[in-house]
Amino acid sequence: MERGGRAFHARILRREVLERGTLKYEAMTGLPDRLRESLSRDLPVLGLVELARSPSKDGTCKLLLGLAEGEGSKAQSIETVHIPPLSRKAQSGATLCVSTQVGCPVGCPFCASGKAGLVRNLRADEILEQYLHGRALGAIARSVVMGIGEPLLNFDALLAALTIVHKEMGIGARKITVSSVGFPERVRRAALARPPFQLAISLHTAFDEERAALVPAMAKTPIEEVLSAGDFWFETTGREVTYEVVLLAGLNDTLQHAEELGRRLAGRRATVNLIPFNPVVDGDFQRPEGQRVDEFRELVENAGVVARVRWSRGLESDAACGQLRLRN
Ligand code: SAH
Ligand code: SF4
Repeated sequence: MERGGRAFHARILRREVLERGTLKYEAMTGLPDRLRESLSRDLPVLGLVELARSPSKDGTCKLLLGLAEGEGSKAQSIETVHIPPLSRKAQSGATLCVSTQVGCPVGCPFCASGKAGLVRNLRADEILEQYLHGRALGAIARSVVMGIGEPLLNFDALLAALTIVHKEMGIGARKITVSSVGFPERVRRAALARPPFQLAISLHTAFDEERAALVPAMAKTPIEEVLSAGDFWFETTGREVTYEVVLLAGLNDTLQHAEELGRRLAGRRATVNLIPFNPVVDGDFQRPEGQRVDEFRELVENAGVVARVRWSRGLESDAACGQLRLRN
């Protein structure tokens, strides 16, 4: 180290930041004074800068984090959402929702994240730092990789970051869920790596033509191939897949949709999460009524498939993922 630090100082620093959550050099008393002074002069502990904070009444807090870009290129930003438990008794810590890309190339028409396409993949350190910013708002017990971007299109960086989150920040593999549109080859590759997370696949509909419109980057991939990649994930990792369906009023929320979904998933070891649509800025889509959502869930369950409804929180501040970034 040119600052006069030793290799074991780097280990101390790593432990302070990752295990103890110390984000100020002054507080890292295991390091020599001279080294702490030198580091605090010109090397920030975190590279991502908090640009905006958007708290909701229910305790959810969305962070807009700025990325340090090279000279000449425009500064970019991503979102991270800290979601505390609804009741203190029920759970010990918050859920953190993190991003994996700046923008998204998949282009789902109901999603704010894809509106401007993909700018770039996040690096592993940029994915990891979201956990450090998030933990500063309160302890994290679980995490969902459901922010901006398609995680399996940036798998190497994601795996490197989540391995550290799991091993050094102590979040259990069963408490981390990665949500993907389910590119079959990428799901298989991920399964073989036995990564420290659970998999959720955004299916949205059991009809191929409709899925082509709702998940444009997968227009040429039949749903059957997505499901068999999901089966491969289960056989390889022993962890069940969760299939997600964003319910859009009058589109994919009809009773025929529920029946077809149940039919396709019947007999598979899988769970369905129904997510009533969050209205996005200038959106063409609508959220279904609660009663329709309940009927939909019952029909899926009639096929012998476990289905849950997930109403999203943090609605009154900046609704669905990608919106804070879009607004800025
Ligand atoms: N790209 C990945 C992960 C990020 S999106 C994926 O699509 O799975 C995480 C989840 O939020 C997905 O299931 C996505 O369909 C859903 N989502 C996106 N926009 C939404 C909105 N406006 N309302 C409700 N859910 C939304
Ligand atoms: Fe990308 Fe997921 Fe949004 Fe689709 S829903 S545009 S895959 S972030």
